[in-house]
Amino acid sequence: MAVSRARTKLLTAFLALLVTVIATPPTASAGDAVRAEGRKSAEDVSPRGDVGRREPPTPPELTVVGGAIPPVAQPVSASGSDEVVLRPLVIAVDSADFGLPTWKAVLDRVGTPYDVLSAETEQLTADRLVRPDGVGRYNAILLTDNALLHPDGSGGHVSGLDDAEWRALWAYERTHGVRQVSLYTSWGTFPEDYCLRPGTEGGITSPVRLSLTAAGAEFFDRLKPTAHIPVAHSYAYRSTLAPGCAAQPLLTLDDHVMGVVGTSADGRERAALTFSSNEHLAQTDLLGYGLLRWATRGVLAGESRHWINVDVDDWFNTGDHLHEDGRLDTDPGFRLSGTDAAGVAQQQRDLRTDHPLAGDFALNLPYNGGGLDPDAPARCAPAPTGDALTSYSRCLAGEFRWLNHTVHHPALDFTTYAENEAEIGDNLAIARQAGLTVPTEVLKTPAYSGLGVYHPDPDAAPTAPPTDFGLTSSNKALLDAAHDLGVRYLHGNMSFAGHRPGCFNCGTRHPLQPDVLVVPDWPTNIGYHVTAPAEQTYFYNNLLGGSGGFPSSDLTYEEIVDHESDVALRHVMTGSAYAHTLHQGNLRQYSQLRSLAFDWLRAVVEKYSAAYRVPLRNPDWPALARYVDARTAHFTEWGAGRDAVWDKRTNTVSYTPAGAGWLFFTGVTAQGGVVDVYGTDAVTLVRTTAEVALVATATPRA
Ligand SMILES: [Zn+2]
Repeated sequence: MAVSRARTKLLTAFLALLVTVIATPPTASAGDAVRAEGRKSAEDVSPRGDVGRREPPTPPELTVVGGAIPPVAQPVSASGSDEVVLRPLVIAVDSADFGLPTWKAVLDRVGTPYDVLSAETEQLTADRLVRPDGVGRYNAILLTDNALLHPDGSGGHVSGLDDAEWRALWAYERTHGVRQVSLYTSWGTFPEDYCLRPGTEGGITSPVRLSLTAAGAEFFDRLKPTAHIPVAHSYAYRSTLAPGCAAQPLLTLDDHVMGVVGTSADGRERAALTFSSNEHLAQTDLLGYGLLRWATRGVLAGESRHWINVDVDDWFNTGDHLHEDGRLDTDPGFRLSGTDAAGVAQQQRDLRTDHPLAGDFALNLPYNGGGLDPDAPARCAPAPTGDALTSYSRCLAGEFRWLNHTVHHPALDFTTYAENEAEIGDNLAIARQAGLTVPTEVLKTPAYSGLGVYHPDPDAAPTAPPTDFGLTSSNKALLDAAHDLGVRYLHGNMSFAGHRPGCFNCGTRHPLQPDVLVVPDWPTNIGYHVTAPAEQTYFYNNLLGGSGGFPSSDLTYEEIVDHESDVALRHVMTGSAYAHTLHQGNLRQYSQLRSLAFDWLRAVVEKYSAAYRVPLRNPDWPALARYVDARTAHFTEWGAGRDAVWDKRTNTVSYTPAGAGWLFFTGVTAQGGVVDVYGTDAVTLVRTTAEVALVATATPRA
């Protein structure tokens, strides 16, 4: 029957899990094919580099030099001083400044356009900061470090900005009311005084945890006031505050100040952190958005929210089953029972109840209708029905979100139009006949097949690593059939370079069928073929490249869950909206109301809830894909390089779009815009029409 036919194809799902280049070639000691071909390092799981346990370079120590540059009163520009473009300026020493990728990561995730000025090579003049019509070119000044020092060639250090350039910058900040943030700040008074005075300085080798002050809890109000900010791989100036100085601590470590906000003698508002960061570190994820939001007074192009979306693939199907002794059972393999399905629904309810920030969470279930028994009645009871999984699934249909994953789970790399049409269209019909609600416009192909990633040898073992030929090598017959059936969104995989979009939370318009957007998923390191902790532990320690890629000894199941939930948490903290992918066997109730999937998911949500007080967005897939679609259009529009201008007297934001599409703003509302109130922010999605001016209202924060 269909179930067994589907099962034989499921080995290709292995490729969905072992997702990137196999780092270590099979060794002579390798056992079965899965073991040999399955070797990979934990690094491969993090193809973007922004999610893994990458060791950052040693942060440079800032040289403290004395002496403030006295600001000179500048004539205030008579016109335009209330108008600024919604575009931050990042000032770095040069293109190699280690703080530059940190700011870029923060800005790219939000999707706000920005400029970079290289202090050492470019001249900072008033013209660089103010348009001829008096409008300020920048709504925020973001410094990589407070002094922008670099070696002067004779053993000393010199700032990349000379005194006149610092004064020009400060004059701009004064006349246009623009705030400044220094990401990495030493104490002292050069070039200006942040009220920071010497405490102790040094590298942070073992992680420390910063606390928020009351002012810090308000400043970073997406975080819980009780949140601890882990700081690692950093050099820190554990500072004290100058008595009587106009500054408030934001972050503390024991008795020392690690972040500060205050006003300069000439009335400019500045914030600063006293430790180094980089784009890979959790401290950047936790603090970066809050710093940008403060710098822009909460009026910015782009947005950042937090999302949790989880796909559990191959529902109704039977998958391979890896046992804890390493035996791979392919016949009969593993298929969920009816009571497993009931347990999934209960674990989902428990998660929502226990973690209100995930209060509307529901799983996405890409299903294979070939395993559905159309004669099994909808029934949530253990009585025999022909197929208990079908009966429970029909009974629980409204608890989950169903996604088209084809009838029989074939590899779709070289299938014909007719085969593709049947696999896609029949799967919709089967499910709808059984009472499941399925969106037409979303398709997840088996193991992401048909999208340019396959083994060039058609006789290669199913576990052999595929080659990423790029989306132009996709199966055109698949795209045509999918398109004709109404599919507009295809799942891709972040592990494949060809599926990775060029911007954050974006998708890729398919080059062979531009009506279709490829929206990538995140892979996980939970085996597609494991159903219980001992199996996952065997898989992790033995098949992922030795100790799961860890240099030390084997990890326990608890350690694996801890590490893998950290990887997913990084995605969530950066604001990534993409779904994480698991497989049906991961939902087996290995003990009462426990499953690998929910052990991992609960850990992610628990850690998130300890740090944040803003909710986790959990849209259904069509809404998620539309969001990704709009983000893609948003970046395209800003690519035109036009200015959105905020008039701070009238609080209007004016922008003339180059194209028809979508734009996101935060702290801005517009007629016809769709607003999502997220924490204390209003995130607005606005539709644009080419050359039709958009006038919106800004609501700046204090
Ligand atoms: Zn699958």
